[in-house]
Amino acid sequence: MRRIVIVGGGLGGFRTARSLRAAGFDGDVIVVGDEESLPYDRPPLSKQLLAGTFTPEQCLLAGETSDVRWLLGTAVAGVSLGRQVLTLTDGTDLGFDDLVVATGRRARPWPGPPTVARVHTLRSLADVAAFQADLADAVDVVVIGAGFVGCEAAATLRQRGLAVTVVDVSAHPMPVLGDVAGEVARKRHAEHGVRWRLGTTVAAIEGQARVRGVRLADGELLPADAVLVAIGSLPNTEWLAGAGVALRGGAVEVDRTGRALDEAGAPVPGLWAVGDAAAWAHPHAPGPVCVEHWSNARDMADVVATNLVAAADERTVLTSVPSFWSDQYDMKIKSVGYLRAADQLALVEEDPARRALLVEARRAGEVVGVIAFNMPKAVLGYQRALRLRSA
Ligand SMILES: Cc1cc2nc3c(=O)[nH]c(=O)nc-3n(C[C@H](O)[C@H](O)[C@H](O)COP(=O)(O)OP(=O)(O)OC[C@H]3O[C@@H](n4cnc5c(N)ncnc54)[C@H](O)[C@@H]3O)c2cc1C
Repeated sequence: MRRIVIVGGGLGGFRTARSLRAAGFDGDVIVVGDEESLPYDRPPLSKQLLAGTFTPEQCLLAGETSDVRWLLGTAVAGVSLGRQVLTLTDGTDLGFDDLVVATGRRARPWPGPPTVARVHTLRSLADVAAFQADLADAVDVVVIGAGFVGCEAAATLRQRGLAVTVVDVSAHPMPVLGDVAGEVARKRHAEHGVRWRLGTTVAAIEGQARVRGVRLADGELLPADAVLVAIGSLPNTEWLAGAGVALRGGAVEVDRTGRALDEAGAPVPGLWAVGDAAAWAHPHAPGPVCVEHWSNARDMADVVATNLVAAADERTVLTSVPSFWSDQYDMKIKSVGYLRAADQLALVEEDPARRALLVEARRAGEVVGVIAFNMPKAVLGYQRALRLRSA
C-alpha cells in the first residue's frame, strides 16, 4: 500500500491529510508532528486565546482525524531521500513513498545573550500557556517587534488592562502596510494606550532571576514584568540538511505544483512542501518567496494533495493570491496580493468616521495588491482580479 508521510502537524500538514482523503487517496497517511496536540489554528493564539476568550480546545482545526495515523510529540531528525526513510528523534526509522514537508516556522529567538525568566515568544499553544502564567501578576509588558504578531498581542494585552510598550526599529508598525496605513494603526494603538518606541533598537533585556526591563539604545529603561519577543520567524527545515534540497532563506523551494526542487532546479522525486516552510515563485515576486499566511498554507496543501493523486500530466498549479487578515481592537485589517512587490502604496479611499481606508499596492502603475481597514468587501473585487491574472 502506498504510504504518504507528512512531517508537521500544523495547518499545512492537517489540510494536506484532509485533502488527500477528499481526493480519494485510500493508502496510508501518517502525520509526524513534534507538538503533543492535534492540529490547531495559530491565528487565535495572539487574539482570542491570549485574551482568554478561547480555550485551547477551541483552537483545534475542525475535521476528521480518525482516517490518518498521528505520530504526535514526535520530531523528525533527518531524512534519507535515496532510501525513502525518515529518522525520528527517538531513533526509529519511518519509511515513505511520498514525503510532504509541512514543518512551518518557529519564532525567531532573542539574538542577545541567553535571556532571563519571563521573556517569551508566541508561536504555539505551549508558548501562550507559558506567557499567560507570567502575565498573571504582571503590570508592565514590553513587546519587542511591531509586526503583525507583536501588534495583535499588544492590542490583546491592552484590552486585558496591562501597560504595554512596543519597540521597533521601523518608523511605523507593520511596515509592509506602508506609511499611511501604518500611521493609522499607530494612532489607533496609541488611543488605546499603547506606548510606542519606534525608530529605535533594544540594547539589552535586563534582569537577574527574572526580567526587570528592556534597555533601549538611547539608554532608556522600559520597566517590564514580562517581555514578548516578536521579531519574526525561522523555517523548521534543519532536518533536511544534506538531502540535496534547494533551501531559500531556509525554506524549501518548490515549483508551482508543490514539488520540492534541488539546487539545479529539478524536482526531487517524491518530495513536496507546503505552507510556511515552503518558498514558491509568486508571479509578482522576484524569486521564490515564503508567504507566511494561513490561506497560503491551505492553498498549497490543496494543490499538493491533488497532485499527489493526479497523473503526472494532469497536475494543477498553484494560483493562490496571498491574503491575510489581522484583528486589532475594532480594526479589521485585510490584505490581498504580494505587497512586497509594490513600488507605490496609494491611498484610494478613506472614511475616518468608520476608521476605514483602502490602499492600493502598485508596481509600475499596475495593481499588485490592496490593503483595507474595515472595508472587507472592497477587497473581494481585487482578489478576484488578481486570481484571474495569476491563473
Ligand atoms: C500568533 C500567530 C498569529 C497568526 N495570525 C494570522 C492571521 O491572523 N492571519 C493569517 O493569515 N496568518 C496568521 N498567522 C500565520 C499562520 O498561522 C501560518 O501561516 C500557518 O500556521 C502556517 O501553517 P504551517 O502548517 O505551514 O506551519 P505551522 O503552523 O508552523 O505548523 C508546523 C508544525 O510542524 C511542527 N514541526 C516543526 N519541525 C518539526 C519536525 N522536525 N518534526 C515534526 N514536526 C515538526 C511544528 O511544531 C508545527 O506543529 C499567524 C501565526 C501566528 C504564530
